Amino acid sequence: MKVVCLNPSHGGSDTGVTCPGIEEKDINLEVALKVGAYLKNYKVHALFTRETDKSLTMENRAKIAAENKAEVLLDIHFNVYKEKDVNGFETFISPMESAIAQKYQEIIHRWIYSYVGTLGIADRGRKFGNYNLLNMCYSRNVVGILLQYLYISNPPGAKLAKDGEVLDKLSYYTAEGIVKAMNLHTS
Ligand SMILES: [Zn+2]
Repeated sequence: MKVVCLNPSHGGSDTGVTCPGIEEKDINLEVALKVGAYLKNYKVHALFTRETDKSLTMENRAKIAAENKAEVLLDIHFNVYKEKDVNGFETFISPMESAIAQKYQEIIHRWIYSYVGTLGIADRGRKFGNYNLLNMCYSRNVVGILLQYLYISNPPGAKLAKDGEVLDKLSYYTAEGIVKAMNLHTS
């Protein structure tokens, strides 16, 4: 069975980014759990680095993915920026990554943006990012893909991130992206 690792970033004392009423660690977990629920219809093992509010090192997260032979690790985030009018969706893979990883990123990015675009959020694009977790995944033969859905420092973005239906749809389209990228079949 194929394995995908869902990584709700941050957790425990590490809240991630915040805005009034939102701690990133909580919405990351909510989205990850929902992505996992949508993937239950498919022949895939959706593995979580955490299913509760706890802290984990990057090393732990990469290890969980590698030891369970995950093909892909999805690193789930929301973003902030000092200028409040900035918003947008972007995805990253390690600069060392292969053409296959770029293909995964392209498909997952396109599926998620097919929904995010309808919310009036800009596409900041597919990028390479020198992030520790992505590089650790790469060195363990796991394709790490970092998702930054939107900016909660942007007032309309914060409103979207507080909307359970929006988080549910983000999760649905993320799951669909994984299904298409990993070529999963219904069980
Ligand atoms: Zn984050």
